[in-house]
Amino acid sequence: MDRYGYNGKVLHVNLSTKEFRVESPPEIFYRQYFGGRGFIAYYLLKKMTGGEDPLGPENILVFAVSVLGGAPAHGLCRFSVGAKSPLTGAFGESEAGGYWGPELKFSGFDALVIEGKSPQPVYLFINDGKVAIKEARHIWGLHTGDAQDIIRREIGDERARVLLIGPAGENQIPYANIANELSHISGRTGMGAVMGAKNLKAIACRGTQKIRLSNPELVAEVAKRVARDRNEHPLSYGLHWIGTPGAVLHFNHAGTLPTKNFREGTFAGAEKISGERMIETILQKREGCYACAIKCKRGVGFKSDRFTVDLRYGGPEYEALAALGSNCGIDDLEAIAKGNELCNQLGLDVISMGNSIAFLMECQEKGLLPASWREGLDVSFGQAEVMLKLIEDTAFRRGVGQHLAKGVRGMAKELGPEAEKLAVHVKGQEVPLHDARGKAAVGFGYAVVEKGADHLVSGFDILYERADHPGFQAVAPLGLLEPLGVNDLGPKKIRLFTYMSFLWSFYNCASVCNFAFVPRSITTLNELVHLVKGITGWETSLWELMKVGERAINMARAFNVREGFSKKDDNLPERFFQPLEGEGPLKGFKIDRQVFQEALDLYYGMMNWDKEKASPTRAKLVELDIEWVWDCLPPHIKGGH
Ligand code: SF4
Repeated sequence: MDRYGYNGKVLHVNLSTKEFRVESPPEIFYRQYFGGRGFIAYYLLKKMTGGEDPLGPENILVFAVSVLGGAPAHGLCRFSVGAKSPLTGAFGESEAGGYWGPELKFSGFDALVIEGKSPQPVYLFINDGKVAIKEARHIWGLHTGDAQDIIRREIGDERARVLLIGPAGENQIPYANIANELSHISGRTGMGAVMGAKNLKAIACRGTQKIRLSNPELVAEVAKRVARDRNEHPLSYGLHWIGTPGAVLHFNHAGTLPTKNFREGTFAGAEKISGERMIETILQKREGCYACAIKCKRGVGFKSDRFTVDLRYGGPEYEALAALGSNCGIDDLEAIAKGNELCNQLGLDVISMGNSIAFLMECQEKGLLPASWREGLDVSFGQAEVMLKLIEDTAFRRGVGQHLAKGVRGMAKELGPEAEKLAVHVKGQEVPLHDARGKAAVGFGYAVVEKGADHLVSGFDILYERADHPGFQAVAPLGLLEPLGVNDLGPKKIRLFTYMSFLWSFYNCASVCNFAFVPRSITTLNELVHLVKGITGWETSLWELMKVGERAINMARAFNVREGFSKKDDNLPERFFQPLEGEGPLKGFKIDRQVFQEALDLYYGMMNWDKEKASPTRAKLVELDIEWVWDCLPPHIKGGH
């Protein structure tokens, strides 16, 4: 049978027994689940039964590209990694771009399913279909950059693409990240800690197998159009020129720049940490991912009298600027760049790290921090040097870092009810740097998305605010035809959120970068359908692709339900129900609890989920052609259907 776009091979590795197995799933598997989130949810549901220790050998770790990943078009470079999350206990998933995902495809596999635990530190080397487990005791404890250099030397190939963890992952910090090429980061839900718990330091890939395209001309046509128009399109050009750091001043102006642990929405030092200031000072180059002309990534490197920052670790994105900057009350751009480098060297998710520090800072300000926690340190807002020390201490669980390593939820639980009111997390995951009080759909996504607070769920509300916005116009093929205000959480916004969450979920199944596709960027929905056809040969439609996304959401939800998550977990932190403080146009604004609850019920209804159990119904699973998922649900959920 002719197969285009994918290899038809999933590699299974058992680190306990050192056995490998290659699975060859049928075409229907690829077409229904596509890759990424879809594959992760499939294997986590099939190979686990619920109640597993996220840091135990029984947790399954899945790396998945997609049927599109590695094809020569912009934004098809990503991969997802997933497991039960040690941070939340829920469905864990994180995506990253770069070059590792395509290289896994070139080495002959579409996905990697890792089971068990190695008795000693190891790394995997996947080389054109061959697999080797290699000794890693000598690189255990090293920074990501040093370990990557040694691995490349050992395997004798400087062009090998290496994905790896730092000391934070080895020390099983629940929000440890995974880096590939040192600057492309799978940050969220603590997947680095799962690697660390399995004694797996790294996975290096090298491959020469080319991806067969069903219709190369069709793929080239889309790729050429995007390359040609990249500089004309307002959204893609902005991403290239200033990148995500451009959001700092934009959000500050809108009154939604998280400041001092999400207490305020404007920051007096915003100019000093802005993307504009970065271009004038420390930006060295604009970088990109495999085959992508948008090149939205930042390359920051410098040597000053205070810090040396290595260009190899990339540069701070918006999330890092706000997490280590405004949210900690810090206006020192060089220190933030250093903090970003430290997070990438040590292997810590910059969002969870920054927010954990910000939480501690507010607790000190409010007199909620016992002296025994501070160990003589002044943990007040604005302390750049303290912020840097806390990052290092967290990776090694020393000093105040022992507490920060528990994350916001863990610290708040120990500090008591007053501290819990300041704890900005959902399902245990620290909230990205977007205030739910100025972005209703983003905030709603925090509450309901299965992996805990995440901002890559449905697109920012501002994209859909004006009829003349290119982002809004681009989603008309989905039947989203009326612009809606940024703080609107009414029925029409929930409909928009639901549709967009299917599209975003498809992006996560298909290894598609949302910075290269609508509504955030340039590649259109029709071009997406053309790409799928040109790569795989499948005669498909937007409807079928949206169903892939919806299917994956339902599978992730079923995973959570099996783990005991329920309606009460689909909630927002107390902070967002309180008035926004400080200055700015949204001063005093808060989310109305009743409006939020009504939105939640409406959402469950639109998803055809049981409203009380917040769980997929059997009818919905049958409609999505995943009736087998019903058997994964516990009896108390299935009763009554
Ligand atoms: S748009 Fe940016 S993040 Fe996305 S693939 Fe291109 S360079 Fe990478």
